[in-house]
Amino acid sequence: MPLTILNTDLLPGRNFIAGTWMEAEDGAVFAVSDPATGKDFASVPDSSAGDARRAVDAADTAFASWRKVPARQRALIIKRWNDLILANLDDLGRLISREQGKPLAEGKGEVAYAASYVEWFGEEATRADGDIIAAPVTGRRMFALREPVGVVAAITPWNFPAAMIARKIAPALAAGCTVVCKPAEDTPLTSLALVRLAEQAGVPPGVLNIVTASRQQAAHVADVWLDDPRVRKITFTGSTPVGKLLARRSADTLKKLSLELGGNAPFIVFEDADLEAAVEGLMVAKFRNGGQTCVCPNRVYVHQDVHDDFVSRLTTRVQALVVGPASDPASQIGPMINTRAVEKIDRHVRDAVEKGAHIVTGGHRLEPGSGAPAHYYAPTILTGVQASMACACEETFGPVVPISCFGDEADVIRQANDTPFGLAAYFYSRDVRRIWRVTDALETGIVGVNEGAVAAESAPFGGVKDSGYGREGSRHGLEEYMHIKYVCQGQL
Ligand code: ADP
Repeated sequence: MPLTILNTDLLPGRNFIAGTWMEAEDGAVFAVSDPATGKDFASVPDSSAGDARRAVDAADTAFASWRKVPARQRALIIKRWNDLILANLDDLGRLISREQGKPLAEGKGEVAYAASYVEWFGEEATRADGDIIAAPVTGRRMFALREPVGVVAAITPWNFPAAMIARKIAPALAAGCTVVCKPAEDTPLTSLALVRLAEQAGVPPGVLNIVTASRQQAAHVADVWLDDPRVRKITFTGSTPVGKLLARRSADTLKKLSLELGGNAPFIVFEDADLEAAVEGLMVAKFRNGGQTCVCPNRVYVHQDVHDDFVSRLTTRVQALVVGPASDPASQIGPMINTRAVEKIDRHVRDAVEKGAHIVTGGHRLEPGSGAPAHYYAPTILTGVQASMACACEETFGPVVPISCFGDEADVIRQANDTPFGLAAYFYSRDVRRIWRVTDALETGIVGVNEGAVAAESAPFGGVKDSGYGREGSRHGLEEYMHIKYVCQGQL
């Protein structure tokens, strides 16, 4: 698949520090590869500690002036960024598909989704109001003012290369913070393109800095930011082990943290559910990005009375899914991101089968074309899944639907909550009392009730337990980048 980007300006291929596009200090680069074939097609700087430090120097210097820019002016710049993202929607969509592998329609959909956060936070920038507090004694005035926290370090994952950048950088800029960013090594090109557009939108030099790094260098870059007391906040989306590492390593400088980590979402179909709606909701929630999202249902519990009917309807839908390269407009499921990912999916399916699960459809890797590495996985349904199987305990992050049968509401809630994770949960029911009972009982940050597509820029996205803390999107997403200064004026 050729990289047909009309606006080649979107491919700077370098770091952006203090308003200048530059190579890594030592000139090192690493390759970006096509998830479908594993073949390299671009290269970007492989940054080291020196580059990371330079980025913080720039962000720290720029913070002094950016924080004083009136909110409305910051909002105008962010809105211009949004306009430029939308004007380049096709190219950005192609870039996402090229480096991440999601079908082109989904790639373009992600750009629109990313832009919605930029637009939202451009608007929210002007609403970071404080409070006037009723004083307990005469002669005093008391206020709570909101201030930007300072330099923010953003570390992002590969599954939504544009949306993850937008959800972090737009609120940071809106709040008056400056940013140093390291995108995922699998998908650095989209983030560089977005930074290029931010530059064109008028984000001043030093306010937004980005350094790319290979997996080997990622920790060296992050360590500089974790140790530097000038970095006041880490915002991270990725795996729970890395999130915990960042939390531990930032303890010495007591940084504010937003951690959006792994999930293990349950999807429950009660006996009173609208089965057709439940099948549709599961298709939407499970197969977005080929199952590679942190809110994808990872465990599906279906009541025994409707189990066979549900599985049969779902099988028809899953067998109709078209797997293929992102460049083919017919594709609905693209390649998985890399060999590590597809091997994990296969390991989960093998483990389930060995422990007694039944493959209804799929259950194997695919090799479309000859000689290509098998980064494709057949959409799969497993039944008879037990809690001890790897696919029920760990995030599979692929197009696999593991189904268990249940008979009792209290028991299925216990099973749904029996995980260290707590990001999203979904359930289908038409009983209004059950809806609120189950909603209250689920230990997650997000609940989809009769709905499989829950993310929106106006909604607070985030988890509890091992899925992390902090919220992205909504007015709460802006608060993550601000602290409160209480002012008490006396002698009045
Ligand atoms: P995944 O397994 O999905 O790649 P990770 O949590 O490993 O999820 O990666 C998410 C982001 O965290 C990526 O940008 C990656 O480079 C970065 N990362 C990985 N390891 C570290 C580390 N030790 N310190 C800081 N960042 C890291």
